[in-house]
Amino acid sequence: MENNRKDTEEFRDHLSTVTEEGKRVWVYPKKPKGKFYNAREIVAVLLLAILFGTPFIKINGHPLILLDILDRKFILFGVPFGPQDFHLFVLTIIGLVISVFLFTVVYGRIWCGWACPQTIFMEMLFRKIEYWIEGDANKQRALNKAPWTGEKIFKKGFKHIIFGILAFLIGNALLAWVIGIDGVYEIASKPISSVMGKFTAMIIFSGIIYFFYAYFREQVCTLICPYGRLQGVMLDQNSLVITYDYKRGEPRGRIKKDVEQNLGDCIDCRLCVDVCPTGIDIRNGTQLECVNCTACIDACDAVMTKVKRPVGLIRYASKNEIETGKRKIFTPKAIGYTVILALLFGLIFFLLSTRSNFELSIVRTAGLLSQQQPGNKISNLYDFDIINKTFDDLPAELELVGRKGEIKVVSGNLNVKPQSIAKGKLLVILPEAEVKQLSSSIQIAVKTKGKVIDIIKTNFLGKIKRNKRKK
Ligand code: SF4
Ligand code: SF4
Repeated sequence: MENNRKDTEEFRDHLSTVTEEGKRVWVYPKKPKGKFYNAREIVAVLLLAILFGTPFIKINGHPLILLDILDRKFILFGVPFGPQDFHLFVLTIIGLVISVFLFTVVYGRIWCGWACPQTIFMEMLFRKIEYWIEGDANKQRALNKAPWTGEKIFKKGFKHIIFGILAFLIGNALLAWVIGIDGVYEIASKPISSVMGKFTAMIIFSGIIYFFYAYFREQVCTLICPYGRLQGVMLDQNSLVITYDYKRGEPRGRIKKDVEQNLGDCIDCRLCVDVCPTGIDIRNGTQLECVNCTACIDACDAVMTKVKRPVGLIRYASKNEIETGKRKIFTPKAIGYTVILALLFGLIFFLLSTRSNFELSIVRTAGLLSQQQPGNKISNLYDFDIINKTFDDLPAELELVGRKGEIKVVSGNLNVKPQSIAKGKLLVILPEAEVKQLSSSIQIAVKTKGKVIDIIKTNFLGKIKRNKRKK
């Protein structure tokens, strides 16, 4: 460990919220306040508005965004994506995962503190309700120790009822992203027996959310969240994290009046520990539990202002910056990730921009030769597949390009329903005089409402000429 620091590495051997016997240590963080907290509140309001508001926005009667993983139907900004676009979905997910890695290498856990739903729901909704009903940390601690009086029953009961309602609202909002707001209305308006599956899912969803925020809390970040557990491999000496400037702060110690002291700037008031929602002491260094919530920055800045010392004893900085005073953002690792990310997103953008609303295929039925038709004509049998990815009906028409002849649908339907696939068989019939070779190329134009949407090239088999045997 660094220089004159008093602490040992012993704190890394156990979680701050679990006793040696394995019991939970309940964290009572002091209510944070300061400029970072204010900024986080603004970001949280915006994100919550997006979460609750987006399912209500529709374009031409369809959701702006729908992430129906159950039926594999996705709508992004009004554009429908179906199972046929699975490659785009996989690429986007890979792109997002890599971008999370890149972002973390450079900017540390900014996501956790500012945008993660877990932190936003916990710190900006549930915790605020708890402060409002039970008071700040000391009052909460006292209330929990107090016997079950009428006041305690009222406060606890009231808090958990509001927690339950909030969990139900969040559960419904998340569900609306998956099944659409109409799906949620359906659950609410129809008899429970007719929507039992969805209703059960909604109750389970809401119950899990209630459990997470009423009881499990910071344990989600330290025990469950894979992103949190991967920090050790993602962060390096140049990552921007919330860190204590031990060079400036140590040796720490309380200020004693009229006593000459040779101390650093940390007055060991422990306010940074008191406000921490995960119960850690950031002065021990970067730790797995730290969700970069900035509460300790605000607390320490307020203390530094009071004792008339420069703010920023705890701040966003890299380990190298604290040690050398210089910050290096573009490390080879960060550059490597950026290049991969740019290529991946370039590919995703290309695929999205060239993505068609329809997919068509017409292939000659395997194993069949040409057929003789009346009137000196010959035909070939083809299988067709038309995928309609739009929300509208697709009345398709097929037309031969640059050839005399006709197309006859013998099975299936060319009227493709919204977001569905039409399959069938058709005959291409050409006059014999048109077919001079054993195999020739033909083009079929696919039209809808008079507009050509695709031209498909395929081949056409002529008649096999047999040599007449000499008698
Ligand atoms: S809030 Fe600042 S001064 Fe107080 S203990 Fe923490 S680092 Fe030291
Ligand atoms: S150490 Fe600071 S930034 Fe990290 S979780 Fe605790 S209060 Fe938040």
